[in-house]
Parts: sequence; structure tokens; C-alpha cells
Amino acid sequence: MLFDTHAHIDNEPLYSNLNHLIPEFKQDGIDYIMLPAVEYASWDRVIRITTQYDMVYGAIGIHPSEVTINDMKVLDEIDDVLKHHPKIKAIGEIGLDYHWYDNREEQQMWFKAQLEIAKKHNLPVIIHDRDAHADVKKILDEVDSYSSGVIMHCYSGSVEMAKEYIKKGAYISLGGPVTFKNARTPKEVAKIVPLDRILVETDSPYLAPHPFRGKTNSPSYVRLVAATIASIKGMSLEELAESAKENAKRVFKI
Ligand SMILES: [Zn+2]
Repeated sequence: MLFDTHAHIDNEPLYSNLNHLIPEFKQDGIDYIMLPAVEYASWDRVIRITTQYDMVYGAIGIHPSEVTINDMKVLDEIDDVLKHHPKIKAIGEIGLDYHWYDNREEQQMWFKAQLEIAKKHNLPVIIHDRDAHADVKKILDEVDSYSSGVIMHCYSGSVEMAKEYIKKGAYISLGGPVTFKNARTPKEVAKIVPLDRILVETDSPYLAPHPFRGKTNSPSYVRLVAATIASIKGMSLEELAESAKENAKRVFKI
């Protein structure tokens, strides 16, 4: 009944154990997993995992942390990948990270280029926004990516900005932080996001939800994220999980 819309299951310690983990995820009620690429070197692995496991879909893209080590020519390969691999359903994860990196102009150039590619293919984009809220919003508005789908991964902006994104048609994806006791804003965001615009994710193996904070995260824990949002919204876990799953299937065209 659950769709984890953001899990790096190509990373260790998950990757080497996927053969026995995938059946466990299914038993835990996980129907689908979206696996976003981070670096060019991982595209092949992402594609391979999506062909190996029914429940896994993928996204390819270059994360802002990886732009300096790549040549923009790698983006030319996206057309070909999409032609041959129908389970690649999005461009991601892409965006801006001003928390860890100073190369703002370079990041913006890559971000815009990848948004244009997504738009050309009518594919949704999975957005990483770390301490770059204003610029991410400005660029998304400029390129006008909303009609092909915008997913704000692990949304960390304000309630006001969430409302603007919702008005534009974007999806707000919430993860582990919404379960943290001291996380006021994500809980407020969870309250105001309409049921047809919310997504749930883990960002596995990072950002494990309460009470596993600091430990290895797993797609199975997306249930804890969904349960927290359900209780904030005053509805059942099943109702929230089903809506979030339908939203994900709609935006990824699954
Ligand atoms: Zn991620």
C-alpha cells in the first residue's frame, strides 16, 4: 500500500542485500520504490536495479554535489537511456545545494539544463533543495516545469513557499524529518498539503525516521513517515498511504 518515492537502494548497506531485502519490503507493505540517481557513474546501476526488480522505478540525473566532476556532455546520453529503459520515469535528483557547495552558478547551469531535458521528454523532476529555496523556486518558475511534474524531495522550505508550490501544481514529498520531535515546520507543512499533492519517502539509507534516527534507513520505514502525517491530518494510515501512492503513480505515470 506504500510508495517510497525516494530511496537510494543502490547505496550500501542496502545494495549488496537487495535480493533478500526486496521481498522484505513487499512483506512490509511497500508496493513501489523510486530510485533516483545521484552521479553519472551510478546510472547503469540504477537502470540495472529497475530491470531486476518489478517494484523499483528509477530516475537519472546529476545531483548538485556531483556537477563539478562531470562534463555536461553526459546529459546528451539521457535521450538514449530514456529510449531503451521505460522504467526510468523521472529526471533526478537535481537541484541546488548551497549548504555544502559554493559553486552556485555552475549548479544553476546544470539544474536549468536538466529541467529543460525533463520538459522536452514530458518527465517529472525530483528536486534537491538544500538552503537554496529562493533560487530553486525562481528557476523552476522560469523554466516552468510544473506541467510535466515537480516533486519537492524531502521538502524543507516554509509553509508559505509550500503553498506557492501547491498552487503551481507541484508535489510535496516528506520524509524522516516530519517524524522528529523537534521538527515544527515539516509538521506544519504536512498539515496544509492537500491529500492529492502529498508524497512520502525515506531517502534511504539516510535520514531514518524516529525512533531509528541516526541508524540505517530502509524503504520499510516509509510507513513511519506516512503514519506521522496521517495522525497530523487526523486520518488513517491506510487512507494517507493509498492517496500518497496514487499521487506518486500519477506523477511518475506508472
Ligand atoms: Zn536523495
